[in-house]
Amino acid sequence: MGPEAARDAARAKGLEIFRLMGTDIPAVFDRKWWAGRMMERVMRDPALKVPLFRFVDVLPALSANRQVARHARQYFAAGKSPLPWFVNSLLCAAESGVGPAAALTAFLVRRGVARFSKTFIAGETPRAALAAFQRLVDEGKTFTVDLLGEAVVSEAEADAYRDLYLALAGTLAREMPGQVNVSVKVSALYSRIGAVNREDSVLEVRRRLAPILAAVRGARGAVCLDMEQYALKDITLDAFTQTLDDPAFEGWERAGIALQAYLRCAERDLRRLIGWAKDRNRRVAIRLVKGAYWEYETVVARQKGWEIPVFSRKTHTDWNFERCVEVALENHDHVTLAVGSHNVRSIAFALATAERLGVPRERYEFQMLFGMGDPIKRALKQMGFAVREYAPVGALLPGMAYLVRRLLENASNEGFLQKVFLANVSRDALLAEPEPYVEAPGEGEAGTAEVGTAEAGTAEAGTAEAGTAEAAAGGPAAGGIARFSNEPPADFTVSGTRTAFRNAVAEVGKRAGQTCPAVIGGKEYRAGEPIVSVNPARPRDVVGTVYGITAELADRAVAVAREAQNGWAQRAPEERAAVLFRAARIASGRRAELAAWQVRETGKSWAESDADVAEAIDYLEYYGREMIRLGKPVRMGDCPGEENVYLYRPRGVGLVVAPWNFPLAISVGMASAALVTGNAVLYKPSSLSPVNGWLAFSLLREGGVPDGALNFIPGKGDAVGDRLVGNPGVDFILFTGSRAVGLRIVEKAGQTAPGQRVVKRAVVEMGGKNAILVDADADLDQAVPAVIASAFGYQGQKCSACSRAIVHADCYDRFVARICDAVKGLRVGPPDDPANTIGPLIDGAAMERVQAAIALGRREGRVAADIPVPEDGFYVSPTILTDLPADSKLLKEEIFGPVLAVIRARDMEEAVDLANASDYALTGGLFSRSPATIARVRETFAVGNLYINRGITGALVGRQPFGGSRMSGVGSKAGGPDYLLQFMEPRVITENTMRRGFSPDVVP
Ligand SMILES: Cc1cc2nc3c(=O)[nH]c(=O)nc-3n(C[C@H](O)[C@H](O)[C@H](O)COP(=O)(O)OP(=O)(O)OC[C@H]3O[C@@H](n4cnc5c(N)ncnc54)[C@H](O)[C@@H]3O)c2cc1C
Repeated sequence: MGPEAARDAARAKGLEIFRLMGTDIPAVFDRKWWAGRMMERVMRDPALKVPLFRFVDVLPALSANRQVARHARQYFAAGKSPLPWFVNSLLCAAESGVGPAAALTAFLVRRGVARFSKTFIAGETPRAALAAFQRLVDEGKTFTVDLLGEAVVSEAEADAYRDLYLALAGTLAREMPGQVNVSVKVSALYSRIGAVNREDSVLEVRRRLAPILAAVRGARGAVCLDMEQYALKDITLDAFTQTLDDPAFEGWERAGIALQAYLRCAERDLRRLIGWAKDRNRRVAIRLVKGAYWEYETVVARQKGWEIPVFSRKTHTDWNFERCVEVALENHDHVTLAVGSHNVRSIAFALATAERLGVPRERYEFQMLFGMGDPIKRALKQMGFAVREYAPVGALLPGMAYLVRRLLENASNEGFLQKVFLANVSRDALLAEPEPYVEAPGEGEAGTAEVGTAEAGTAEAGTAEAGTAEAAAGGPAAGGIARFSNEPPADFTVSGTRTAFRNAVAEVGKRAGQTCPAVIGGKEYRAGEPIVSVNPARPRDVVGTVYGITAELADRAVAVAREAQNGWAQRAPEERAAVLFRAARIASGRRAELAAWQVRETGKSWAESDADVAEAIDYLEYYGREMIRLGKPVRMGDCPGEENVYLYRPRGVGLVVAPWNFPLAISVGMASAALVTGNAVLYKPSSLSPVNGWLAFSLLREGGVPDGALNFIPGKGDAVGDRLVGNPGVDFILFTGSRAVGLRIVEKAGQTAPGQRVVKRAVVEMGGKNAILVDADADLDQAVPAVIASAFGYQGQKCSACSRAIVHADCYDRFVARICDAVKGLRVGPPDDPANTIGPLIDGAAMERVQAAIALGRREGRVAADIPVPEDGFYVSPTILTDLPADSKLLKEEIFGPVLAVIRARDMEEAVDLANASDYALTGGLFSRSPATIARVRETFAVGNLYINRGITGALVGRQPFGGSRMSGVGSKAGGPDYLLQFMEPRVITENTMRRGFSPDVVP
């Protein structure tokens, strides 16, 4: 059949479906109902979409009428409500949030949303849904059941989810024999599922999936694995094929998996799956859908700077869907295809293709969602085709994510259903052939193995790199530099990236034991005390030895730096920036290796180490651009006969004292800021991460910082540091570390030594006692993992880490129960294995200090959760403390370890007061879905970086400039527009331009 004939055949099938659909309208668009009218209003005014969806999202978490009325008022301000007029009037009357009007509003709103959700959800429990299932069967359809689940944050929850499926299979087998068909989401089968620990994720998913498959098989039923976010795609595929490769499932043909046509790599995955089935001479069921996470994938990829794995035009998704339908049907000897679409054109194409290829009807069926596209289902039934409904079961709270996805889908302007039933688009347009996707020359297939490999995803990709190359080469045509953009984090969905990391960690392990000298004025010194650096996960393993400097060398370093500074300062700002850009390029090229050194020397996980290297690159790129901006003198005022110029000059010689917890990023950030502004730098790395310090120094040196302008001066203890801070030749000090040392530096810097000619500036970043506030209406599915990541990421050894969770009394018990369960699912062990979430503390002293804090917590309050840790290495269990007395020092002092205190607050006012009752003011967080609370906390929570509805660590250069006040530090935010100003002195030069009455700027 030629293309013309194929087009005609698909069109004919489409017209037949439309004819059979008649004038029926699906319930969700039926204006007879509240929901239909609301959807119509939202379609007409997209500005209503956000408040409506957010309100629907929070509703199940609101227990009191008062809360419902208040939230409704907050979301639906006058004139912005898609709710019916009578609910709006009630809302106005329910101003106080209490009384009969509020109660009636709450009742009506709850009932409206509950009814609406019944459109899409078959029942609250399998038993309650049996009637709906029977109705489907009576209508001649079949069904597959999906159990709606809260996001799984603990292993206990994953076990519970597995057990629910086992029970579901039992109920269906008993009550509706022959109708056992379930759809399963793998994300609910393992709480730590993730791309970085793919192998471990696949294993753990298989462990819980296998019994479900066995139960379903035993009941002669069928299973389909749903497909979720792109990051989980390969885990889902691997778990599916590996489980079925088990001899227990040999010859079973009723196991299936969903594939998403909006992914550019869908056809490749489909062919791979078909190949797998062919090799084993078995049949596989494939449900082809377009994909329900389009907005999520697009936003996440943009946020991370990764290539977007989905097509950006709807017509290309439709085209790819048809391509995949064709491939699957061509292979019907091995594939049973489920066409999962409500789009008449897509369905008609599948019908015409199946007919053309002579595919027997039992080898394909049509699947649609419960509550969606009912007129289409009826039409297909009348044509004699098998139709299966995807029927979710569950309570409203766990079902909310599903419901919001359906709302999005139905309200989407791009959606087929909306075009048919609301927008009345012509049938010709609806049945038009989709446009084929043509790959632009040089464009790789996004969403394939090539994207984001260690090489492609880091060194070569990204605009930062482009900017680097251009700047180093003097810039493109107009002398400009690409706008700053953050270095994308490594994409661990790509197997090449994981392999690169594994190899780098192994390689670095083999190179351990090297020695590094101190370097002053380009000369190497090995005279001082050797600093032996060990792997905190296996303290017997020496990572390297770095030679410290002596007191005499410290003085020499200052003299050398003073001498070199002038020449360096005379270089143009663009030239100094180019040095930073070159260093960034070198770091990009060594991305996995640099991260691996952190894994070894500081006990950091793969992803956290990679993030540190990316941050170092960001600082180089950002400060380089900032210097070019600030390096241009600015004309001030506008006065004839006079020229006023505002410009910056370097301060002189800076001492950079760096910490071990971000050994590359903070070292490179502080040193490069001081250097690019024209200063000379004495760089002292932490004695706990000196090898990483050497790497930071080497990067800048290889980037082109001249000898003497940058000096590497390691030193154990505070003696050398104190001597240098007090040296009259040092003009400013940049420090990140503990409060005690930071304050000592500020104090010493304030003392004027004989011969000193400047008032020293000390820029110090110290600690935090950071809190996350959790409101009664917070989404705990989000809040629990975010608090876990903020409190225990890198073992809590970040100044931004969360050490207090201050939780509204109304959800305190639920929060504590879920977070404690989540902690029990964490795994402590060496970070070179990405399956371990918690690594060691930096050294034995840190371990003892944190153990002592936990012991105090046990005496003063309650250890609500902890887990066993390995014996070898400086490990401490992630620990949750509750019931601490208000005056406990554990609530006030920084612990710098994986210890989280959970505190109950009466209301959010008290929560903010408790949070603010701290000497520190660094980071803070809030989980709330109340616009009014969010607005209030923005004003009252006194922290340098406030994060709303997300974790509180991982600030990005240029996006979340970082730094706090009070005892958290003094100085402008790192990675922000004011940072470089601290290392320069502003000058104003005024010249009288009038000579003998002639002024060049006054033209007669
Ligand atoms: C039985 C069944 C099971 C399902 N299981 C899954 C599953 O496991 N995983 C999953 O993700 N989804 C699943 N879905 C949901 C499914 O992805 C959506 O219902 C489907 O995408 C809607 O497509 P359509 O053909 O019905 O409608 P259409 O209106 O033709 O297509 C809408 C779809 O087009 C895509 N799209 C929208 N805008 C753009 C754009 N600008 N550029 C590119 N593409 C765009 C999106 O995928 C969107 O959902 C399932 C659906 C059914 C019917």
